[in-house]
Order: sequence, then C-alpha cells, then structure tokens
Amino acid sequence: MTAAFPSPEAFRDECRAFLEARYPRRADVAQPFRWGEGSDAVGLFEEADPSEEAAQLTAVKEWRRALWDAGLAWISGPAAFGGRELPGPYQQIFDREARGFEVAGNGMLTISLGMIAPTIVAHGTAGAKDRYLAALQRADLVACQLFSEPGAGSDLASVSTRARRDGDGWRITGQKVWTSGAQYSDIGEVLCRTSDDGRHRNLTAFVLDMRAPGVEVRPLRQMTGGAAFNEVFFDDAWVPDDDRLGEVGGGWRVAITTLSNERAAIGGDGFGGAGLLNFDRYRQMAEVFGKGDDPVVRQRLADLLVHQRVANYTRRRAADARRAGHAPGPEASIGKLALAQQFQRIGDFVGLVLGPKLVADTGEWGTYAWAGLLQSTPGYRIGGGTDEVMRNIVAERVLGLPKEPGAAGR
Ligand SMILES: Cc1cc2nc3c(=O)[nH]c(=O)nc-3n(C[C@H](O)[C@H](O)[C@H](O)COP(=O)(O)OP(=O)(O)OC[C@H]3O[C@@H](n4cnc5c(N)ncnc54)[C@H](O)[C@@H]3O)c2cc1C
Repeated sequence: MTAAFPSPEAFRDECRAFLEARYPRRADVAQPFRWGEGSDAVGLFEEADPSEEAAQLTAVKEWRRALWDAGLAWISGPAAFGGRELPGPYQQIFDREARGFEVAGNGMLTISLGMIAPTIVAHGTAGAKDRYLAALQRADLVACQLFSEPGAGSDLASVSTRARRDGDGWRITGQKVWTSGAQYSDIGEVLCRTSDDGRHRNLTAFVLDMRAPGVEVRPLRQMTGGAAFNEVFFDDAWVPDDDRLGEVGGGWRVAITTLSNERAAIGGDGFGGAGLLNFDRYRQMAEVFGKGDDPVVRQRLADLLVHQRVANYTRRRAADARRAGHAPGPEASIGKLALAQQFQRIGDFVGLVLGPKLVADTGEWGTYAWAGLLQSTPGYRIGGGTDEVMRNIVAERVLGLPKEPGAAGR
C-alpha cells in the first residue's frame, strides 16, 4: 500500500506558509552577486565567542522546535520517532524554500543531525531511539562525535579509550581530542576499546551523557582564534548497556556508518559553502583588484570554474543518491575530497589576487575578511578524514585498486 503524500506543489506551499509566517525574507537571495554589497564575512568553520555561541544555539533550538511543531523537522524520518516519512526529494523542496528566509539553520547541528542521529537509527536499541531521536531533531539534545584520540586519527582502529563492563552498564576511561562542539553538547557517540581481540573486532560504540560524572571537556584554541573543538577526558564515566550502539565488538561497523554520513554531510547538500561556491565572487574580485587581464589570474580563474562544476556535480550526484534512499557509501568520500580541494583552490586564488591585503585589516570590503577562510581551509582538508585517506578510500573501495599495504607490509 502506498502512503498518501501531499503533492510536491502542496508541500512547497506548506513550507512557504510556515516560513512566511515566522521569518523575514532574505533581501539578497536570487540577486546576482555584486562586489562590495552586503556582508563580506566568509568562513568555513564559523566560530564565535562563548556568549555569541550561546545566543546562536538558542536561536537554533527555537528554529528546530518551530520546525518540529509544524511537522517539518524530520521530513523523511520514521513516523515512530516524529518523522514525516516523505520521500527524500521533499527535504530538498523545504531546503530550497528555506534558503529564501532569514532562519537560524542547522549549521550547529551538522554532527547531531547529519551523523549521530542516522547512526542511532541504524544501530541504537529501542530505548536509545526513544530517548534520543526526537530530542535530537527538536534540538532539545545536541550531540558530538568522540572518535579521534591523540594516537588514533586516520588510524581510528587504534583507539585506546577503554570501556569495561560494570553491572548493567560500562565504565569508560581515556581521552578523546578534536571533539567539535563538545562544549555545548549534551550527548556524544564514543568509540571505545572493549577487548584485546584483533583490530576492528575490539571496538564498541556508546551514546554517552556529556554531563555524567567523570566526563571533562577542555577547549582547544585554534589558529583562527576560536575554540570550536576540545579535548574530552573520561574517568570511569558510566554508560548504561542500553546506550550501546550495535554489538559488543561491533563498533567498527557503527563507526563506518557515522563516518560515511559525516562525509556525505560535509561533501553533500548539507554544506552550503556560505556562498563560497559562487564563481561570480572570484571573477569580480579579479576585476576589482585590477587583475582581470593578468594571464596567470585568468588561468587560475578558469581552473576554479572547471573544478567548481566538477565538485558541484559530484556533490549533487551523491546528494541525489541519498535522496533516493541509498545510505551514503564510499562515494561520499569523492564529494568530500572534491569540495576540500576546491576550498584549497579558492584560498590559493584569493591569496594570489589580494596578496598583502589579506594580512592587514584596513576596513576595505572583501579583503581582510578572507583571512579567516585561509586559516580554515587546512582544517577542512583534515576533519572528517584527510585528503590522503579519502584518496585511499576512493582508490580501494570505489575504483577497486589493490589495498594499501598494512603496517606489516610497509
Ligand atoms: C576541523 C576539524 C574538526 C574535527 N572534529 C572532530 C570531531 O568532532 N570528532 C572527532 O572525533 N574528530 C574530529 N576531528 C579530528 C579528525 O577526524 C582527525 O584530525 C583526522 O581523522 C586525522 O587524524 P590525525 O589528526 O590524528 O592525523 P593523522 O592520522 O596522524 O595524519 C597525519 C598525516 O598523515 C597522513 N596519513 C595518515 N594515514 C595515512 C595513510 N594511510 N595514507 C596516506 N596518508 C596518511 C594524513 O593524511 C595526514 O596528512 C576534527 C578535525 C578537524 C580538523
């Protein structure tokens, strides 16, 4: 039996009515980009001071609750947990409409909604689904990803944070690092070692209460000046067994679910690029700064356009596959890699055109504002898996090339 969906047109009208009743329209939307107009802020990892961050989080929570109350928070999610169970393209209809309005958006919830919620859907117990899924969608709870450690980044299977059985739960001891958003998260997906079995069979994943006794979050200061990520220490922190994700020893599979969703969330439609992929910006930048006829600048501009098209099509192909209901697979790594490379190219182009204007804040529109982007691009090439690791995944799991020699082989 086929469920009765609203027609796409009726759904678009519903979305528009919801947005029009609550949010002002964005003045700049659908206007061609004009150098010198509006805000010149650019950045990939937007960072704010703690009070600004708290205000942003409040606005995001209000936005999510309004969406939830209107039945628009989880458009393609399961009805049992407050989802609407509409086909994937309906989310796209909503996103397209929302782009025209001044809304808080989901930027602070990329990890919560793009990575942890899908992992709980795939691997959580019935109790965990009840406790967390609706709360994450409503943003009553915010989640972070506790994977990387000082000795385990690309080689994630080397995690040494331990979880040991204790009655009807587990005690966790160890340290994580680079945990984005831990400072405002309520729960985290933590990957732990639970046995001395072979690699990939000795890991187990849990949902951890970030405010439990024995959990300590310490901010890490970045070269951008912000502190968007943290070290997290566990000293016998408690998790009930009902908050285990997947089988004992099955944590690797759970981690792959989260990482595939992460690459899709970063490289796919979820990441708007803050207008950075608007080619007109760069064409106008070259002209405004008198470099429009410079053959090297023109060459780089052409290169930017070609790769932008490729990155865009790649991103759209992966996003379409997701909308059609396919779980993100290794091809999500292509989208993530293509976008990371493109941001690097943009940074190089901006450096070539602006030169010293990038390092001194003279107040001139569209100059110093780019400094933050240049400081953010290296992080983009590392977070969610480095470019080199993405290339390995694409080589082995998409192109079917022979596996990289393991540590013993090397
Ligand atoms: C902005 C940002 C946000 C992040 N947020 C989180 C988060 O929320 N939660 C979390 O758990 N982690 C997070 N991370 C951590 C991130 O996942 C790791 O930094 C990443 O996986 C790389 O690990 P590493 O830093 O230990 O580097 P390493 O793994 O030590 O890599 C060092 C270098 O060696 C290269 N290398 C490693 N292995 C190979 C190989 N097999 N073949 C070729 N080259 C290789 C790498 O490409 C890199 O250049 C974040 C990182 C950044 C930058």
